Amino acid sequence: MKGLVIKNTGSWYHVKSDDGQIIESKIKGSFRIKDIRTTNPIAVGDVVLFEVNTEGFGTISKIEPRRNYIIRKASNLSKESHILAANLDQVFLLVTVNYPKVSTTFIDRFLATAEAYNVPARLIFNKTDLYNAEEQEYMNAVIHLYETIGYPCYCISAVTGEGVEALKGLLGDKISLFSGHSGVGKSTLIKALFPDLDLKIAAISQAHNKGTHTTTFSEMFPLSEGGYVIDTPGVKGFGTIDIGKGEAGHFFPEIFAASKQCRFANCTHTHEPNCAVLRAVENHEISRSRYQSYLGIMEDDSEGKYR
Ligand code: GDP
Ligand code: ZN
Repeated sequence: MKGLVIKNTGSWYHVKSDDGQIIESKIKGSFRIKDIRTTNPIAVGDVVLFEVNTEGFGTISKIEPRRNYIIRKASNLSKESHILAANLDQVFLLVTVNYPKVSTTFIDRFLATAEAYNVPARLIFNKTDLYNAEEQEYMNAVIHLYETIGYPCYCISAVTGEGVEALKGLLGDKISLFSGHSGVGKSTLIKALFPDLDLKIAAISQAHNKGTHTTTFSEMFPLSEGGYVIDTPGVKGFGTIDIGKGEAGHFFPEIFAASKQCRFANCTHTHEPNCAVLRAVENHEISRSRYQSYLGIMEDDSEGKYR
C-alpha cells in the first residue's frame, strides 16, 4: 500500500493510507537511504510503500523520491542531519512592517534558504490594520521589490480577517509550512484560517518561541479543505543551512540571472571587472538591499549567524 507520513514519534511513523486510515508503522530493518546521513531516514511528508500485519501495524519498505526536503543539523557538532519535512508545496513567511519590525535581511535569508531547498516561497504581511500611511507606503515598496523578483506577496490582518479567505484558497490539497519571527501572528493566523483545527499547533508554536521544546518531531495537521499545515519545532529561522561562498548567488534569482553576463564564471560579484551584477546594482535593476543580503550570506563563515 502507498501512504503519506503525517507524524513521526521516535521510531514510529503515522502513515495515512489512500483510504484515509492512519496506520502506526515502523521501518523495515534493512532500510537505507543513500547519500544523506540522517538521524531519521523518513520524515513527515514522505510518500512510502508499506504493508500491514494482522495486528494492524505497518512495515515501511520503500520511500518515493522526494521533490524537496528541509533539514537541519542534528546537533552543532554532529555530521548527521535531521530531516524536518519532505515534499513541501510551499512555505509562507509571515512578516510585519513593525510590531515587530522584520528586516529585509531576514526575509532575504529566508528566501535564499527556500531556494536552496527548492521550495516555493511566499510572503504574508500581517497586522495591516495597524499600519499608518508611512508604514503602508513602505510595505508597498517592499512588496513591489519581491513581486518583481517573483515572490508572491499577500496583505492580511489575522485579527480583522482581511485577506484571510484569499490566503485559505492557496492551501487546498497542498503541504504548507508557516514560518516567521515570534510575535508576527502565526498562531493567530492559523486559528483564523482553521477555527476547528486542533489547537495543539498553537501550543507547539508557543513552546518553540520560548525555546523550551526538546523534541524534534514534526507533525502535519490535516485541513478540512484538503491539504496540510506543517508544524515543525525549531524552524523559526526555517532551519539552518550552510550556503557555500560560491553558491550564495544561486539562491538570489535576480542575481543568478544577471550573473550569466559576468565575464568570469566564478565571479563573486564584489570587485571583478565586467561584473554584470555590480552593473545591475548600479543601474538599480538589482536592489541594493538584496545585494547587501547576498554579501552578508557570502561573508558569513560562522554558521551561528545564519539562524
Ligand atoms: P506568533 O508568536 O507568531 O504565534 O504570534 P501570535 O499569534 O501569538 O500574535 C502575537 C500578538 O499579535 C498577539 O497579541 C495577537 O493578538 C497580535 N496579532 C496577531 N495578528 C494580528 C493582526 O493582524 N493585527 C493586530 N492588530 N494584532 C495581531
Ligand atoms: Zn559578477
